[in-house]
Amino acid sequence: MSSWRDYVRRVTPYTPGEQPNEPEMIKLNTNENPYPPAPGVLKLAEHMETDKLRLYPDPTSNVLTKALSEFYGVEQSQVFVGVGSDDVLAMAFQTFFNSDKPVLFPDITYSFYPVWAEAFKIPYETKALDENFHIRKEDYYGENGGVIFPNPNAPTSVLEGLAFIKDILEHNRNSLVIVDEAYIDFGGESALSLVSEYDNLLVVQTFSKSRSMAGMRIGFAIGQPELIKALNDFKYSFNSYTMNQTSLLLGAEAVKDRAYFEESIAKIIKTRTWAAEELKKLGFEFNEPWANFIFVTHPKYSAKKLFEALREEKIYVRYFSLPRIDNYLRITVGTDEEMEKLLHFLKEYMK
Ligand SMILES: *Cc1c(COP(=O)(O)O)cnc(C)c1O
Repeated sequence: MSSWRDYVRRVTPYTPGEQPNEPEMIKLNTNENPYPPAPGVLKLAEHMETDKLRLYPDPTSNVLTKALSEFYGVEQSQVFVGVGSDDVLAMAFQTFFNSDKPVLFPDITYSFYPVWAEAFKIPYETKALDENFHIRKEDYYGENGGVIFPNPNAPTSVLEGLAFIKDILEHNRNSLVIVDEAYIDFGGESALSLVSEYDNLLVVQTFSKSRSMAGMRIGFAIGQPELIKALNDFKYSFNSYTMNQTSLLLGAEAVKDRAYFEESIAKIIKTRTWAAEELKKLGFEFNEPWANFIFVTHPKYSAKKLFEALREEKIYVRYFSLPRIDNYLRITVGTDEEMEKLLHFLKEYMK
C-alpha cells in the first residue's frame, strides 16, 4: 500500500543565516541594516489604523507601486512588488524561465537560485567566476533559457559596471536577463537606466538592506510593462493578496524619505571604508566591497576557526562551507561600534 508519504515533494531547502536573539550579540551575518527605518515609518506604525486590517489589501498594491514609480521616475505599469525580493525572484523564475534550455547563473552566487530552479524543475547551468571572483561575461553569450546574477554579487561583494550589464543584454536579445540589485544602493550604478532600452531586462531590488526593512518583507521589480504584466498575471493566477496592508503602507512611507535613505547609506559606506582599511591592516584579503558586507579571507587563519571563535563571543558573521569559498567570511557592515568590537576581537585573536 502506498501512503501520502510517498508523494511528499522532496526538496533541498535553502539554508538561511542563523537568526540568534541574544542580549549583547553583534549580528553581522545576514546583511541587515544596522539603522532603523525612516522616521516616518516608525510614526506611521505607531498610529496605524488597525480597523483597515479587517479588509483585504489592495491586490494591485497601488500605494506602493506608485511611490516606487515616483522615486525611480518610471511608469507605475513598470513596477511589480512582492513579499521580499525572494518572492519577486521566485515568481520571475516561474513566469519567465520556462524554456528547455538552461538558465545561467554564476557558480558562486545567491544560493537561492539553484534552490528555486530545482523546486520549479527549471534546467540550469552554473558558470564559474574567474579567479578574482568576477563574472566572465563571455560565459553568458551562448543559447540559454534566461540569465540571472546579483550585482553586486553575493557573497563576494564584487560589482560589475553598466557596460558589462549592457554587453550581457546585447548578447541575450532573446533571453530574459534578471539583475538582482539587492545591494546596488551601497555605491554601485543601477541597471534601471537601461530598462527603457531593453525589453529583456528585469531589475529586482529589496527593502531589506538599504531601506532597513527586512522584517517587513518588501521587494520589487522594474522592467518594461510587458514583463510586469506577465508577473502580475502569474501572481493573480494563484494568490492575489501576497502583500499585506501594513507592508504596503509602511513601504510607501519609507520610499518618500529620500534624504534619510541617502544619509543612512552614506553612513554604511563610511563605516565600510574604514572597517575595510582596518581589516587590511590585520592581513585580511578581499575584493573592493560594493555591498553592505565585506567578503574576506586570511592567508594565515582558517575562516572556519575564526567564525567559531567569533561565535563564542556572540559576534555572528557568515561562513559558507562551499567549494572555492570555504576559507572566507562574509561580514556585514554594522555600526561603527559593532565593527570596533569585531576588530578588537580579531586583534586580540591574532596576537
Ligand atoms: C538579501 C538578498 C535577497 C532577498 O532579499 P529579501 O529580503 O527577500 O528582499 C535577494 N537577493 C540577494 C542577492 C540577496 O542578498
